[in-house]
Amino acid sequence: MSTAPLIPSDLKRGREVVLTLEAFADRGKSLARVAGPDGGRGYVVFVPGAVPGDRVRARVIKRKKGFAEARLLEVLEGSDLRTEPRCEYFDACGGCKWQHVQYPAQLAMKGEAAVSALTRAGLDLGAADVRPPMGAADHDGSGGVYFYRNKMEFSFSAMRWLTDWEIASGEAHDKDFALGLHVPGRFDKVLDLKACYLQSEWSARLVNGVRAFAKRHHWAPLHPREHSGYLKILGLRTPAHTDDKMVNLVTSHYDEERMAAFADFLKADFPEVTTLVNTINSGVAQTAYGEAVHTIFGPGLVRDRIGPHTFEIASNAFFQTNTVAAEVLYAVAKDFASLQPTDVVYDLYCGAGTISLFVADAVEKVVGVELVEEAVENARASAEANGVDNCTFVAGDMLELFKPELIDEHGRPDVLIVDPPRAGMHPKVVGQIAHLRPERIVYVSCNPQTQARDLAMLQEAAAYTIEAVQPVDMFPHTHHVESVVGLRLA
Ligand code: SAH
Repeated sequence: MSTAPLIPSDLKRGREVVLTLEAFADRGKSLARVAGPDGGRGYVVFVPGAVPGDRVRARVIKRKKGFAEARLLEVLEGSDLRTEPRCEYFDACGGCKWQHVQYPAQLAMKGEAAVSALTRAGLDLGAADVRPPMGAADHDGSGGVYFYRNKMEFSFSAMRWLTDWEIASGEAHDKDFALGLHVPGRFDKVLDLKACYLQSEWSARLVNGVRAFAKRHHWAPLHPREHSGYLKILGLRTPAHTDDKMVNLVTSHYDEERMAAFADFLKADFPEVTTLVNTINSGVAQTAYGEAVHTIFGPGLVRDRIGPHTFEIASNAFFQTNTVAAEVLYAVAKDFASLQPTDVVYDLYCGAGTISLFVADAVEKVVGVELVEEAVENARASAEANGVDNCTFVAGDMLELFKPELIDEHGRPDVLIVDPPRAGMHPKVVGQIAHLRPERIVYVSCNPQTQARDLAMLQEAAAYTIEAVQPVDMFPHTHHVESVVGLRLA
């Protein structure tokens, strides 16, 4: 390989290059720049798995007009931002892309991503209190960067993916059975995880126990190509604030005898399990949702708390997967909303009503709007169970519902809290918000790109000032970041 500085024409597909990484890029990648002729416009090369500050050997695998992508072959000099990943499956697993980056650097990157999305969309943050990102809350002594999920879904597969070190070990591996997480981008390949640091040590033990049980009984895992097999997914819910523990075994059909045997096994070996449900999914998709849910023992739900409220969570119900971080996020949203006792608040895209309940004690009334009927039913039940009587929940599509009739019925909002899915809001919904002109808006987002787009659209139509921005990390080691933006009508 030549030691002369790279020029863009070196970036041919298949060519090996040496690169120094400059910055974090989207989705677990870092980027290097290769200067154009005469120092002109640089050419960007993305390298998944590399870290800013690394000097790496990499192979160009994609070359497009404005950028290239290269596969990391060797780290020649490691960045100071690196750390030893805790998990032995890190290289192969799709779960934690940034485990090899020190947490403070991950956090800084996420804060930067959330704020730069807003500025790149042309939003004026001059008057805004832009706060440093809030990191994982230390709730269990691990610093909160591990074991933060209250829900996991492990996949069964008859096509096991072996890691490099599993192959190198020379041991004979059972390649026809895996229980773990998917290799990124491979619907058919699953790692047989003996450890995972996302949920709890207990969860990993349970996964290992269930695998051994299933193999002993010759229960067939899903064959992702032939669509045969009995076992599909092992879902676990382990709430942060109660000792409830749910096992949800997702299978292709209902087999009473097998479920009785499985229940006996859990009661003997994992007596901590408080409820077992069996979801039947006879379709081809490997999802935890199915056409029927049988409760085998226990109440068929778990309870967790956010703030002072307790929520009952069924196997298929939506609930924030990082309970402790959700409390942090909601506290920021509540703070940004500057709530007054006379306020009418609309909680749009309210899911199971967790934000609605969180803010309800500070205001006159909350109206929650949510697409999924079951989530609205959960929200109503939770409000009632927690003695909260000033929340109303409406089921339906925001695009259809969020119209003058809804406002006529429930009153004009002083505050809107919006927390849409990754795709953001429909332009017509943004238009309707601009038309309504509530005094305060709090936009909670899991995707700063769409948040920025929506806010730019809103500001074009109505005079809102961005008062505060708070990025929050709910998912350490992933590229995800939440961002809360507070706005006020000028
Ligand atoms: N605020 C809640 C949920 C946020 S997730 C919480 O903190 O838990 C986004 C929610 O928007 C999901 O519950 C999803 O079902 C809902 N949603 C998605 N599209 C919608 C639409 N068009 N109209 C109403 N709700 C929608």
